[in-house]
Amino acid sequence: MKYYILFGPPGAGKGTQATAMTEKYNLRHISTGELLRKEIAAGSELGKKAKSLIDAGSLVPDEIVEGMIESEFRTVRDVAGFLLDGFPRNTAQARDLDAILAKTGEEVTGVVSLMIPDETIKERIRHRATIEGREDDAREETINNRIVTYHDKTEPLIGYYKDSGKYNEIDGLGTIDEVRSKIFDLMDRF
Ligand code: ADP
Repeated sequence: MKYYILFGPPGAGKGTQATAMTEKYNLRHISTGELLRKEIAAGSELGKKAKSLIDAGSLVPDEIVEGMIESEFRTVRDVAGFLLDGFPRNTAQARDLDAILAKTGEEVTGVVSLMIPDETIKERIRHRATIEGREDDAREETINNRIVTYHDKTEPLIGYYKDSGKYNEIDGLGTIDEVRSKIFDLMDRF
């Protein structure tokens, strides 16, 4: 199995690009944010636990998202690989992912990082709020905290994956089509 990580700040366009990538490369898209929103919508215990943290712009506990990821790895078949979107989000999760894959003698195939500046993050999220109606996109404070969380907790992963030679950055500005074709060029080289 291939294991691709789609990396980038909130609003970088990960979800948008993921659809095209999964179709072209026969991958299963796993968005931990989407999985968590489903739990919230279903009113599960896990969802209740996650909601206040998501609304605060913080990360939910590592074991929650890691459990979700492992169960997808175990149950999904008939694909060439997985496209991880929003996971890992801190170095502990990245190490745990390596350990999970090592159990079956596997490893992360490559990281595709979509980079946009902080000003663009805010513009994109404000725009998405009018379309998708996500609660965590509605409040300025939540958005600001997510940006802080990204810089504090998630950005260090860039160094982590550079060290293993798996990090590839793409400019996330430009049209959806332009970014997609840059991603495809990169994926074809993996
Ligand atoms: P965005 O990319 O716009 O930030 P996501 O849908 O990826 O949105 O994530 C929404 C929220 O879900 C995050 O702000 C965080 O609270 C929670 N979340 C998603 N993935 C993880 C993860 N891997 N670890 C911890 N929390 C997560």
